[in-house]
Amino acid sequence: MKSPSIGNVLPPLHMSRRSVLLGAATAVSSLGIAARSLLSQEATGSETERAIASALQRLKQGNTRFVQDDLQHQHASRAWRSRLTEAQQPFATLLCCSDSRVPPELVFDQGFGDLFIIRIAGNIIANDVLGSIQYAAHHLHTPLFMVLGHEGCGAVTAAVNALRGAANEPEHIAELVKMITPGLKQLDLSQPRQALIDAAVEANVRWSMRQLLAMPEAQRALKQKRAALIGGVYSLKSGHVRFLEN
Ligand SMILES: [Zn+2]
Repeated sequence: MKSPSIGNVLPPLHMSRRSVLLGAATAVSSLGIAARSLLSQEATGSETERAIASALQRLKQGNTRFVQDDLQHQHASRAWRSRLTEAQQPFATLLCCSDSRVPPELVFDQGFGDLFIIRIAGNIIANDVLGSIQYAAHHLHTPLFMVLGHEGCGAVTAAVNALRGAANEPEHIAELVKMITPGLKQLDLSQPRQALIDAAVEANVRWSMRQLLAMPEAQRALKQKRAALIGGVYSLKSGHVRFLEN
């Protein structure tokens, strides 16, 4: 599959996506969701909607290349990097786990300047995370936001252990776990352990999404379709990212 040309991805920096930036200058910074419809049909209409659809397509196509062991490693050359020295214009913001087995640029076959990434164990919504996401929305205007969880997440597993009364983590890890457990309360704790952890990983992604969407700015953006928020779960075995469709 062919990636967008450099011209489409990164116009000359001094005039990059001028209309979007001018519009955003007066808009309230934020993110929002329009993901359900965007995942199932081509976006038409505003430039922002097209940017959202394009961003989603780039992530999906990049992950397909990764799964097929067909990485292109684009956007890593010295010439490309020289175009990024004065500004960045990533097309998506990702909240991911710190897990060494889930490097987002490789998982989605993207390069320098493509993704604005926040990595924190358990892809949790801590205050610092909100600040980084707000920065991406307010200053970088990325059209797509994604929360990416992964199979076998240690932080989520620790939260499951805590819910089962088997927690024995040091203080700071315990604090982290406390931020995950509220999103797991609907789970059937009596199900087989592996199924429970798998369900907890997805529930934790949705929990982070719900916390983002609790922000008034996000709700405004949802109405105005200025950005989209999606979730995903990465499979350690296959490398496939399952995009959460609803
Ligand atoms: Zn993890």
